[in-house]
Amino acid sequence: MNSISPSIYIISVLLLLSVSQATSSPIQQTLIQCLFQHSIPLSTIYTPKNSSFSSVLVSRAQNPIFAEPAVPKPELIFTPLSESHVQAAVICAKQLGIHMRVRSGGHDFEGASYVSIIEIPFIVLDLTNLRSISVNINENNAWVQVGATVGELYNRIAEKSNVHGFPASICPTVGVGGHITGGGYGILMRKYGLAADNVIDARIVDVNGRVLDRAAMGEDLFWAIRGGGGGSFGVILAWKIKLVAVPETVTVFTSTKTLDTKLLYRWQNVAYKLDENLFIRILMQVMTNTSTTSERLITTSYQGVFLGGADRLVQVMQKSFPELGLTKKDCIETSWIRSLLHINGFPVNSSLELLTQRNTSSFSFKGKADFVREPIPEIALEELNKRLLEDDMPIIVWTPYGGMMSKIPEYETPFPQREGTMFKFHYFTSLDTGGKNVAKHMSWIRSLYSYMTPYVSKFPRGAYVNYRDLDLGINKMDMSKASHLLY
Ligand SMILES: Cc1cc2nc3c(=O)[nH]c(=O)nc-3n(C[C@H](O)[C@H](O)[C@H](O)COP(=O)(O)OP(=O)(O)OC[C@H]3O[C@@H](n4cnc5c(N)ncnc54)[C@H](O)[C@@H]3O)c2cc1C
Repeated sequence: MNSISPSIYIISVLLLLSVSQATSSPIQQTLIQCLFQHSIPLSTIYTPKNSSFSSVLVSRAQNPIFAEPAVPKPELIFTPLSESHVQAAVICAKQLGIHMRVRSGGHDFEGASYVSIIEIPFIVLDLTNLRSISVNINENNAWVQVGATVGELYNRIAEKSNVHGFPASICPTVGVGGHITGGGYGILMRKYGLAADNVIDARIVDVNGRVLDRAAMGEDLFWAIRGGGGGSFGVILAWKIKLVAVPETVTVFTSTKTLDTKLLYRWQNVAYKLDENLFIRILMQVMTNTSTTSERLITTSYQGVFLGGADRLVQVMQKSFPELGLTKKDCIETSWIRSLLHINGFPVNSSLELLTQRNTSSFSFKGKADFVREPIPEIALEELNKRLLEDDMPIIVWTPYGGMMSKIPEYETPFPQREGTMFKFHYFTSLDTGGKNVAKHMSWIRSLYSYMTPYVSKFPRGAYVNYRDLDLGINKMDMSKASHLLY
């Protein structure tokens, strides 16, 4: 860290005086003074009096319910431009004893990267400006800074090679920072495991403001940051990742059907055992039948990505999962990068810029997750279906495990859902039906989660730290405080 020269100090004091006029809280002033002493430019600091404060705060708030006026706001948002700025933030926050939230892509389900309800006052360290990506095809690796999105990473890899990829999130707007440190799964997980399984080095700022790489941090901390969850072990600056091989031709399909419980039951028994080049997930939603006025139907979309051509895929499906009835005309041959367009609901010939857009979500939601280790009986699936129809905009995503996920030992990283896990459920409810029925939707998803207890992993019941669910950890007092503010 640079020590400050007298002239810079005088300029800093003058700047501080001008900032002081625009700030009111002593905490803000002391913090800004500390940051100035570390040569931090004023343009990277936003206090609530700054006209851009709200837009910077919500710009990466993927769950807008946590940006509502009743929710506590940070004293200050700091958007570092360099690693040394991050060091300064850690040193100043520690020195002043102020709680710091770290934000990369802002996709935390519970807004944990930009809201603190218990630890107040707090500041937000927003890493969006640290987004460089350096891909080395010859050495099969890349360095990616945490403020990049996975879509930006995918695009940068694809610009250099059509036979290299990386096994991270399906959703392209997810931030590399929080995502990888919580595990990170996507369409390549059955072939290559999680994003965290493919990290070979990292740079992190520790509690004393030191920058450490893998050798300097040691193997224990390097183990913890690959699945243990964001915001717990220091501020990650960048990941060195291993690129993986993808074929030039990848085949995708989406087969949407009205509810067929027997087919769902069959999927449970085959999806985790399929050829590891094949990933078939299910999106289960409720649609309104357009030919009648009010009838609501459950649809199940079987979305597949196969690392290979359509002919081979059809053979694999005929042998392993003929009940889906997949034919060659249901298949689209494309590239790995374009298969991501398909699974995100875009035509494969759309612009790849769709993968790098950083649009903020406009709807609020509550999500929960479960891991399934034994097939759920049909009778319980029927009840699940009934419950789905009780909510306005529910989604359940069924994500298959097996393949490489079963080969990596459960102690290898802090992500233990490996051998024996057949699939993961992601339950989702929209909280945005006019803002009036938030409590109703929360109660619906909690009741569904409770209903599923006998059918999912137990002792302990598994959870995915990247699908943060404060119902699991929050005590009763915190919960009443949180629900008063949020729900
Ligand atoms: C629409 C949507 C789609 C998703 N799709 C997938 C998917 O396909 N696969 C999947 O595995 N997950 C998925 N997720 C979950 C996602 O992986 C997690 O929410 C992840 O934590 C997001 O990382 P982020 O950087 O965007 O989030 P943030 O909100 O910025 O951070 C999440 C957590 O990590 C901490 N953190 C962030 N950056 C750092 C850092 N640099 N150093 C230390 N801690 C940090 C934060 O403080 C917070 O606790 C999805 C989430 C959403 C909202």
